[in-house]
Amino acid sequence: MDKIKIGILGATGVVGQNYVRLLVNHPWFKIVDVAASPRSAGKTYYDAVKKKWQMVIPIPENVKDLIVRDVQDFDSLNPEVSFVFSAMTLLKEDTRKIEFAYAHKGIPVVSNSSANRRIEDVPMLIPEINHKHVDVIPIQQKNRGIENGGFVAVKPNCSLQSYMTPLYALEQAGYKIDKVIITTLQATSGAGYPGVPSLDLVDNIIPYISGEEAKSEEEPLKILGKIGEKGIENYKDIQISVTCTRVPVVDGHTASVNFKFKDKVLTREEILKIWKEFKSVPQELDLPFAPKQPIIYIDNEDRPQPRKDRDNDKGMAVTVGRLRKDNVFDWKFVSLSHNTVRGAAGGGILNAELLKAKGYIK
Ligand code: NAP
Repeated sequence: MDKIKIGILGATGVVGQNYVRLLVNHPWFKIVDVAASPRSAGKTYYDAVKKKWQMVIPIPENVKDLIVRDVQDFDSLNPEVSFVFSAMTLLKEDTRKIEFAYAHKGIPVVSNSSANRRIEDVPMLIPEINHKHVDVIPIQQKNRGIENGGFVAVKPNCSLQSYMTPLYALEQAGYKIDKVIITTLQATSGAGYPGVPSLDLVDNIIPYISGEEAKSEEEPLKILGKIGEKGIENYKDIQISVTCTRVPVVDGHTASVNFKFKDKVLTREEILKIWKEFKSVPQELDLPFAPKQPIIYIDNEDRPQPRKDRDNDKGMAVTVGRLRKDNVFDWKFVSLSHNTVRGAAGGGILNAELLKAKGYIK
């Protein structure tokens, strides 16, 4: 099969570098276009990123000589590009304008930015949970007069990847969740490069991440929602309260989760069985980036830990542990997901694979 040629907007940032790293040997997609700010435009990819390259592999040969475009220089986009990943740090209104400008040119955009997440006709995907939301794309195209197959699809915030799949697995098995209280311990790489100054973070915990708690509480409601006439209608039947903190860990967001069932309270064995057996459409379709087992439960009382567990199944699995009785709600657990892989570039790649498998990316 000829590989689908793709571009990356924001290719020089932490998430963009992860796309470059993860796509080196991708069986379906090949990078032929990289774009970033006017600061990087006109340089080779190598020259634009050499001082801030964060990956553990060298800058890949197939990308290092590509000339970086300005993301807003639409005319210089390689005409072979079928779709773009978007990982830009810009004002929300600028990101929104740029992403929809690509969509209007017939280029699907698979985005990591928060700019378009709240918009009801934009699908916000975790493929194991709301794969059906891809079918809001025709509504988006009709609402906005987008022709030639363009659209914008997004992935949710990295903070919620670790707890959404374990909670959803219980919901999907028919056991509704009523209330959840979560505290996240989020890695430094989540703030991009250069991120939080080292003197603020080393030997410290910062109990605030701007805008993160609202995203962590609101985005799950859209993910659990249903497609209505105008777009996705939020789920209203769950209460979620989140505290987000930044900790001196390089990669891997951890969450401490306390939850209460709406009706029947499952036993520990029943919950663990549901998590162990949970599989969804990405596994059924055998998508290249789908983890074989989306939820890995580790029984050791001191796991999950970022260094030991973030790379489970290529960094795409959620690792859970410490399921125990809660004195206030019903149960509590600790979960972990790799923020720049499952929570960013890997999650974006899995979204693109799902969109291709469903016929939205050609
Ligand atoms: P980053 O390391 O700061 O990279 C930002 C990227 O945006 C760079 O490629 C940069 O290009 C580009 N950019 C900055 N200003 C621009 C402009 N005026 N015009 C065009 N491009 C511009 O940030 P990041 O961590 O990779 O995050 C990128 C996006 O993904 C953000 O929206 C972030 O919220 C989201 N996200 C991040 C994570 C994570 O774990 N890091 C997880 C989920 C989602 P230059 O190099 O040329 O400046």
